[in-house]
Amino acid sequence: MTTYDLVIVGGGVAGLCAALSLPAGARVVVIDKGESEAGSSPLAQGGMAAAVGKDDSPPLHAEDTIKAGAGLCDEGVVADICSEGPDAIAWLQSLGCRFDEDADGSINLAREGGQSVARSVHARDATGAEIVRALRTAVRGRNIERVRSRATSLVSLGDTMALAYPGRHPGENESRCVGVMTTDRRIFAARGVLLATGGAGALWGVTTNAPGATGDGIALALGAADVADVEFMQFHPTALAGTDGQRVLLTEALRGDGAILVDANGDRFVDELAPRHIVAKAILDHAPAYLDCRTIASVEEHFPTVATACRDRGLDIAHDPLPVSPAAHYFIGGVAVDAFGRSSLGGLFAAGECSSTGMHGANRLAGNSLLEAVVVGRRVGSLVRDEPEPPRVIPWTSTESDFLPMNAALPGILWKGAGPIRSDETLRTAMQELNGLPEGPHRSLALAIVEAAQNREESRGVHIRSDFPDADPHIARRRMARGRIVGHVK
Ligand SMILES: Cc1cc2nc3c(=O)[nH]c(=O)nc-3n(C[C@H](O)[C@H](O)[C@H](O)COP(=O)(O)OP(=O)(O)OC[C@H]3O[C@@H](n4cnc5c(N)ncnc54)[C@H](O)[C@@H]3O)c2cc1C
Repeated sequence: MTTYDLVIVGGGVAGLCAALSLPAGARVVVIDKGESEAGSSPLAQGGMAAAVGKDDSPPLHAEDTIKAGAGLCDEGVVADICSEGPDAIAWLQSLGCRFDEDADGSINLAREGGQSVARSVHARDATGAEIVRALRTAVRGRNIERVRSRATSLVSLGDTMALAYPGRHPGENESRCVGVMTTDRRIFAARGVLLATGGAGALWGVTTNAPGATGDGIALALGAADVADVEFMQFHPTALAGTDGQRVLLTEALRGDGAILVDANGDRFVDELAPRHIVAKAILDHAPAYLDCRTIASVEEHFPTVATACRDRGLDIAHDPLPVSPAAHYFIGGVAVDAFGRSSLGGLFAAGECSSTGMHGANRLAGNSLLEAVVVGRRVGSLVRDEPEPPRVIPWTSTESDFLPMNAALPGILWKGAGPIRSDETLRTAMQELNGLPEGPHRSLALAIVEAAQNREESRGVHIRSDFPDADPHIARRRMARGRIVGHVK
């Protein structure tokens, strides 16, 4: 059995940034269940937010982020992560990342919703693919092992003792994550396990996420560490309308460049750069709605990814109004961590979309997810060398994995019951239907999402309750342990 300093579950932006930030000589493995079909990083279009523009600054970036977060951001975390934006961009460039530039060689910036100045550093409309390309190339040049397998459970020191000495209950201070089990192996982590498993959009029936974005890391952690904010799913307003399942995203940068939203009569009905939940609600209220990109000069040249995806579906982005509707897009909640990725369980870290640092509050601002994934991922990599090695670990005994594939009925239930607009009635129905499904980690996560949404009797940020249309300033962020609400996050 091989022992690593850091075991990273998930090879997207967060996981790869952590792997590349470990000190030389560290033993590291990145476990990923599948490169192309699972993660969101290669799909990211619009850009990564960072205050690198002449008219911008980290405090202004923080101000916009806090405004979007509707009173629920951890302001210290926001200021901290925004201040790292320029350095994170410089680091990515040093690894070979090529972002679009202006004629004078400065970075070209796109403006997206909620940004008071243009702030999204991008590589045309394929920013995530470019970042992932550079990170994967850099990883190949280092001593970083990569394993294709699916993590199915976490192992904590308490578990291993209980297995070795049945009847002996480990004390509180002995509880520590020391490894993971995957579908085909056991992997021991001397200093830390990093969950970097991405989002949970595929738990909803209509989503911009890849089918593998099933919230695995959050489901794995649910029984072992605290999670927070799981009721907050950001629905992207402009996914290309079509069949259920994965939808093509029409990046917000299109609206930033002048694309307009129109109803069936061709009339505009909303400020295109309003926060995403407001645009999403307006689109639902005015359905069928269309994104008209004819206002953008050379649109195919600037947005080749979107243009090709439209063409594949028989639509010409330069001439046809594109039918749009909202889709589950970014999971704000996740494993509760600080700005260094530390969870409530010793030795367990989380970074990227599967984590909840408090940066996004009740609504994530465009481009902030890539920023957070890079900054916190890097920090975990550099921090882990200071983690204590656990005491000699008792050899593991294998346990059967109960990490079953997600039940096929689950996404339809969450989409109907906990979709862009929820109510006590829809959430109750979802709860009943979920309880009727066979037990499993994804069902447990879905139940936690519905319970948190039921308890948030207000509309705030991305969380819209038709029966509680106003915000209630007394409801704070929620922390959950073992799937139940146990208290507030400060
Ligand atoms: C279409 C689209 C466009 C977007 N555009 C932008 C944008 O312009 N700007 C922005 O900031 N954000 C954007 N986002 C969000 C952003 O891309 C993600 O939040 C970010 O890339 C998440 O990175 P990550 O490393 O946390 O996870 P991911 O990139 O999703 O990687 C997670 C990895 O974990 C692996 N994994 C999952 N479960 C397991 C398991 N059980 N065992 C082993 N491996 C596992 C997966 O295979 C995957 O490779 C977009 C998202 C989508 C879907």
